[in-house]
Amino acid sequence: MLDLQAVDTAIAQLRHRRATLPEHGQLARLEDERSAASADLVAAETRVSDLEVAQRQAESDLEPVRQRRVRNQQRIDDGSVADAKALTGLVEEIQHLERRINDLEDAELELMEQLENAAAERDDLAARNAELEGRIGEVVARRDEQLAVIDGELAANAEERSAIAADLPEPLVATYDKLRTSHGGVGAAELRNRRCTGCQLEVNAADLRTFAAAPDDEVLRCEECGRILVRTINSGL
Ligand SMILES: [Zn+2]
Repeated sequence: MLDLQAVDTAIAQLRHRRATLPEHGQLARLEDERSAASADLVAAETRVSDLEVAQRQAESDLEPVRQRRVRNQQRIDDGSVADAKALTGLVEEIQHLERRINDLEDAELELMEQLENAAAERDDLAARNAELEGRIGEVVARRDEQLAVIDGELAANAEERSAIAADLPEPLVATYDKLRTSHGGVGAAELRNRRCTGCQLEVNAADLRTFAAAPDDEVLRCEECGRILVRTINSGL
């Protein structure tokens, strides 16, 4: 009976260890970090692609203005415009176009700078995500390694438990299991030095006399906590 209790206590401790591995908490924290970092990465990628679109737009806005300036310059250079007034008009238009080109180029430069910063930020976030991914992988490996060890021990204990329980009367095991569930995992306790080691209370003199007179195969129960009391040479009876 006490062997069964010992193996059940070991099983309960293993299950507790399984559920409270520090890796569970570490993983939860890392996964939170990763989901925040990956949301940041998506936002950064969106910023980069928006800026790329804006930069292409700026470039295509510039194209016709540049072409027009070149055309005007060619008309001045090849002498095809003889009229002085028309020529003045062309020169003025070129000046206007150049101011426009400058403005558009400034705007494009600004966009390119923003794009460069956004791309750098995206790269940092991608590296951060990869780093978190790596750390999560390490913790998962460490967790799984420990779970495998614990599960191996649990399987061995389960086998041992079956073997021990098979040698005990079924109703006794059933009573013990019920007590174990309702009494904090301890269904059977040794009677040691006239004390129930389940509830730590001393057995009174009258009960002790009853216990001492009981036949060896009788199942004793603690009057205080109800647990199965197991007599040993240390019981003090
Ligand atoms: Zn007790």
